[in-house]
Amino acid sequence: MADNGTILVVGGGISGLTVALEAAEVGREVVIVERNPYLGGRVAQLNKYFPKLCPPTCGLEINFQRIKKNKKITYYTMTEVEKISGGPGDFQVSLKEMPRYVNEHCTVCAKCEEACDMDIPNEFNFGMNNRKAIYKPSEMAMPMRYVIDKSVTGTASQQKIQDSCPYGAIDFSMQPRTFNIDVASIVWATGWNPYDASKIDNLGFGKVPNVITNMMMERMASPGGPTGGSIVRPSDGKQVNSIAFVQCAGSRDENHLPYCSYVCCLASMKQTTYIREKNPESKATIFYIDLRSPGRYENFYKKVKDDENVSFVKGKVAKVEPGSDGNVILTVEDTVGGDIISQEFEMVVLATGMEPSTASERVPGGSVGYDENKFLLPGGDIIPAGVAKKPADVMTSGQISTAAALKAIQAAGAK
Ligand SMILES: Cc1cc2nc3c(=O)[nH]c(=O)nc-3n(C[C@H](O)[C@H](O)[C@H](O)COP(=O)(O)OP(=O)(O)OC[C@H]3O[C@@H](n4cnc5c(N)ncnc54)[C@H](O)[C@@H]3O)c2cc1C
Repeated sequence: MADNGTILVVGGGISGLTVALEAAEVGREVVIVERNPYLGGRVAQLNKYFPKLCPPTCGLEINFQRIKKNKKITYYTMTEVEKISGGPGDFQVSLKEMPRYVNEHCTVCAKCEEACDMDIPNEFNFGMNNRKAIYKPSEMAMPMRYVIDKSVTGTASQQKIQDSCPYGAIDFSMQPRTFNIDVASIVWATGWNPYDASKIDNLGFGKVPNVITNMMMERMASPGGPTGGSIVRPSDGKQVNSIAFVQCAGSRDENHLPYCSYVCCLASMKQTTYIREKNPESKATIFYIDLRSPGRYENFYKKVKDDENVSFVKGKVAKVEPGSDGNVILTVEDTVGGDIISQEFEMVVLATGMEPSTASERVPGGSVGYDENKFLLPGGDIIPAGVAKKPADVMTSGQISTAAALKAIQAAGAK
């Protein structure tokens, strides 16, 4: 019987962290379960946040400090929920933790990384570069500890990595571990995945060179990204002088994501500032169906619009094709003038939307409802938070998560 009032938070993105802190800071025991080897979720992959345009460290780091100082919070990375049984006040949860092969003696000295001769695609950078098979998940990772990709085990690199560590931090004897916890309430904050742009036939992703997605742009612009922060064409490394953003790439489309993801217009506006800042000669064009900059974000839109080198064109992009010298040709139905425009750019960014993680993975137990797009509905035994509930920016995710923390405390009952 979980008479401990403990709250389980699944997902350690900005929403899960918010729920955990809100509940722990009023005295609740909280367990966070995160699949990645680090906390922070998708926000850790952003270069800057709109509207203030500060780096993700400014929001995440303060939460990491609060978590480190709060003894009420326990967190497990590389861990997932396998099964949930019971109900509010008395859930039994089975967790599975995958081996990191690096223990708490790691000082992040990087000697293992220098010794490792095996490369793997860098998932954090959407495969735009490779990284060593032993890697620091990101510059601001929490926990700040190396992790070893399991493909190393059984190869010649395994011994080299093992021998390189002066602190005894490498431990290939680690095995997957299954264990059970009893909790009184469960918050599901598993967030989102970028919509798979290769499913959008007419927009060229994966077929036409120099067509990237908005999340790839976040990594490219980031100092810790695949190009060290230079915005260059993947095909030839050339500095980009003209760039187009294709809004609603797969969004508000019955064949893909029927809904608006709320953040994509603002994300593209933000990304025009990345390119304009890095290359003052550059020009950016945003092709949109409707522009959305709700509430106070209108000021952000106005600021971006004031830049005469940023154009907004109301038109639906019908086709994306290869042009000359690695350029990309867009065919656009100009919905104001009624014309068909054909324009060439050096690089194109597809503003793809957010698909809930629960679209591909259901909650493994508990009573829980899904809406028609597979976001979680409130009202069941499992309490949704952040983008698991609806498409949202960081500020709205924080509001949803604070409300979820209150609900979780109520559902857990008195301690
Ligand atoms: C291109 C782009 C740019 C953006 N830029 C901004 C911006 O500048 N400003 C802004 O306010 N918002 C921005 N956003 C929106 C922002 O990314 C989201 O609001 C934010 O990520 C929501 O956080 P979350 O914690 O709900 O989800 P996530 O960030 O997705 O975190 C969910 C966490 O749950 C984990 N997880 C998933 N499944 C499981 C599982 N089964 N078990 C355990 N863990 C699991 C994931 O690994 C992840 O760590 C942008 C979005 C896009 C697409």
